[in-house]
Amino acid sequence: TTSAETLEFQSEARQLLRLMIHSIYSNKDTFLRELVSNASDALDKLRLEAFRDKDLQADTDDLHITLETDQEQRTLTVRDNGIGMSREDVVNLIGTIAKSGTAEFLAKLKEAKDSAASGDLIGQFGIGFYSSFMVADKVTLVTRRAGADEGVRWESEGEGTYTIEPVADAPQGTAVTLHLKPVDVEDHLFDYTSAAKLREIVKKYSDFITWPIRMAGEPAEGEESAEPAVETLNSMKALWARPSSDVSEDEYHEFYKHVSHDWQDPLETIRLQAEGTFEYQALLFLPSRAPMDLFMRERKRGVQLYVKRVFIMDDCEALMPEYLRFVKGVVDAQDLSLNVSREILQQDRQIQLIRRRLVKKVLSTVKTMMSAEPEKYATFWQEFGRALKEGLLDDTENRTAILDICSFASTHDAEKPTTLREYVERMKDGQEHIYYLTGESRQAIENSPHLEAFRAKGFEVLILTDPIDEMWVDAVSGFEEKQFQSVAKGQVDLDADDDESKTAEREQRQKDFADLLTWMSSALEDSVKEVRLSSRLTTSAACIVGDSYDMTPTLEKMYRAMGQ
Ligand code: ADP
Ligand code: MG
Repeated sequence: TTSAETLEFQSEARQLLRLMIHSIYSNKDTFLRELVSNASDALDKLRLEAFRDKDLQADTDDLHITLETDQEQRTLTVRDNGIGMSREDVVNLIGTIAKSGTAEFLAKLKEAKDSAASGDLIGQFGIGFYSSFMVADKVTLVTRRAGADEGVRWESEGEGTYTIEPVADAPQGTAVTLHLKPVDVEDHLFDYTSAAKLREIVKKYSDFITWPIRMAGEPAEGEESAEPAVETLNSMKALWARPSSDVSEDEYHEFYKHVSHDWQDPLETIRLQAEGTFEYQALLFLPSRAPMDLFMRERKRGVQLYVKRVFIMDDCEALMPEYLRFVKGVVDAQDLSLNVSREILQQDRQIQLIRRRLVKKVLSTVKTMMSAEPEKYATFWQEFGRALKEGLLDDTENRTAILDICSFASTHDAEKPTTLREYVERMKDGQEHIYYLTGESRQAIENSPHLEAFRAKGFEVLILTDPIDEMWVDAVSGFEEKQFQSVAKGQVDLDADDDESKTAEREQRQKDFADLLTWMSSALEDSVKEVRLSSRLTTSAACIVGDSYDMTPTLEKMYRAMGQ
């Protein structure tokens, strides 16, 4: 049968669509960037699949993207002859939102009642295909998967449901037709059937797309010719292959949005060129905001891999370590086979060399940022510090470089985190160690009796509240010859520089309290190893400390929570 079926959007999708329809996102032009970006991905995928599967019945002769307009019907169609989608693809990819973090995003959205705030949130999340509904009140998508006989027609007004039906004569690839919302005719700013407008948007947002973006134009004035002139709107030059002096910051930013599916500008752009026996170019970005799935199990990581300008894969894990999973971008290697698989890449020596270089370059970029643009660095640290610290455990080779770009909250300044270098510079005469205390929150740590004597003596203590802090402080021996020392562990000898009268005083106190200590030790026998007098407290009567090699209380709690 060929009758159309009506299906419901998944509820998350429905909520996002409602948002798009009553859109508050100020820059509506971006819908075209999203559709072109999808079309470009579809062409990349087709080229690769046709290369790998010689039996695929696909037409790869003239891969391109076309924009078609109809002034009378007020439609704009974005067409590609790429990989296309099966019916199942359409239902899964267009009818639902699989992006991890969607639930969190929607929860935040509920909190943000006013529309300006939700517009800002959308910019952080990125909506992709659904952004069509910012400018269209109906969207029709006709698609045929390369190699398949039958196509699919999908249509929706974005309100809860869509229809889907088979079509016999769909060309290979995907055509998305927007039935544009009525606009004030005077308002050319938003007339998406205007050639000038489309030219402008493509130039601005999609110039670097490596496939031709064509516009079927009107025949020139006075020409009778039946063939309308075809105009290519983009320059198609891969940004990473152009000299960086030639590329504007805006171009880099738009390219970033294409590869990362982010809607915000990146925080930093990093370029790398290697010549010689193993040639490659890299164009990397540090995002300005952490993705919502940064700490989720199913998160993606890694940059895109190209071989001689040909897209090979997304999320190439072999090129980026786990702790730098937020880095986005492209690596284009000249001497790899187009046939490489993820498994081969993991073992490839040259890929490992590239990765080492990329890691060092990212770390050194952050280091430069730290001194040259402290505010940018503060944003970076705020967003990615927690992930980066995993590198202190995982990447022993770069441990020093990572420590160098870390910051920590400290008792020195309630607002501003400190670097280790700054801490060491402030260390008092005779202070041997870098003191720290781990805990669940700054407040909990500041109320801790362990801190009292240190505070009284004016020693600075790092306040470590991330779960990962518990782990690396044990693994990392020190920074610039100074050992890390927990103020909650062992006998922290704060009285080292005291004179003899103090020592005598201490011995006297030891005698005075001997009976009490013996009594307490036996009363608490089952709970503690030892009860001793301490100079570390000033206002609290007692506190519990661990042995130097014990786990900290927070770590103990973590292990217990994990069932160990
Ligand atoms: P994203 O591009 O971030 O994955 P989108 O909402 O833009 O999110 O697109 C959702 C998915 O729909 C894409 O990942 C892709 O699988 C599919 N898709 C969208 N447009 C096309 C197209 N023109 N050709 C083939 N697949 C497409
Ligand atoms: Mg997309």
